[in-house]
Amino acid sequence: MNGELPLIIECRCNEIAYRGDNPALPYSPKEIVREAVRAWEAGASIFHWHGRDPATGDPRNDVELYLEVIQGIREQTDLLIHPTLGYITQNQIEDRVRHILAVNDDPVLRVDMAPVDFGSLNVDFWEPQAKQFSSYDQVYVNTRENLRAVLEVFKKHNVYVSSICWDVGQMRTARCFQEMGLLPQDTLWEFVFTGEVMPAGATPNIYGLQAFIAEVPRDNQWLVLCWNGDVMRVASWAITMGGHVAIGLGDYHYSRFGKPHHGELVEMVAKMAHTLDREVATPAQAREILKMAPRPQLANKAVKLA
Ligand code: ZN
Repeated sequence: MNGELPLIIECRCNEIAYRGDNPALPYSPKEIVREAVRAWEAGASIFHWHGRDPATGDPRNDVELYLEVIQGIREQTDLLIHPTLGYITQNQIEDRVRHILAVNDDPVLRVDMAPVDFGSLNVDFWEPQAKQFSSYDQVYVNTRENLRAVLEVFKKHNVYVSSICWDVGQMRTARCFQEMGLLPQDTLWEFVFTGEVMPAGATPNIYGLQAFIAEVPRDNQWLVLCWNGDVMRVASWAITMGGHVAIGLGDYHYSRFGKPHHGELVEMVAKMAHTLDREVATPAQAREILKMAPRPQLANKAVKLA
């Protein structure tokens, strides 16, 4: 275990969630950069976001929307940049990676990592009161053919991959791609737990976490996130068991705290780490922990920890 390593905190600011009554859920590039800076000031070292229509919040793949966020983050922080892949039907790999490859030859703007989900899922929402699903046909498709294609692109262009696993079978699948030489040995394993309304992922309890940890290769790093559910309890176990944590309004509304912004959410995890006697990683430390080369930095502001 790596319990002595500082804690990497990733901020996941918007995903496909809509704003509701919390103005801190960002759509436009300016709003996304604002939340990135807040998260960074509170101790986040990785920032993940989805391109959204600035007015409606609908999913958008425009390279320009991603570029504006990347430039804004690079100008103001030294965060590790981790955009999503394009929201595209599965056979158009070039459209899923266009925004990543667009900046890949620029030593400053180049993204630090890109996510790959290692399997397909039924993603209809469960309605616990009504005891029914809100739909019965929503599938997030990630065929192994598409996994192979996107991993070949990332290998060719030397893009660091974060391995997103919703269950242990997806981890085992990812390890097969490691054996094929398409997924590098160094990857950040992101364990996806899910709340009650999204029974497609792992249950956020200690048994679910142990099942994931059992599959992690020696010396690899892992983190926990909770989609459509509260990550705090599983975060406490990750902090004490040597893992890392991702949190954000994209995953869950956290309305029990009012209308928190990302600085406040990240600060809660950072404080939990301090309480449990674990340091919080700076972005530079996170790069080292993930075995990435140091990067040219535009910002030299000190990270302000709570
Ligand atoms: Zn995402």
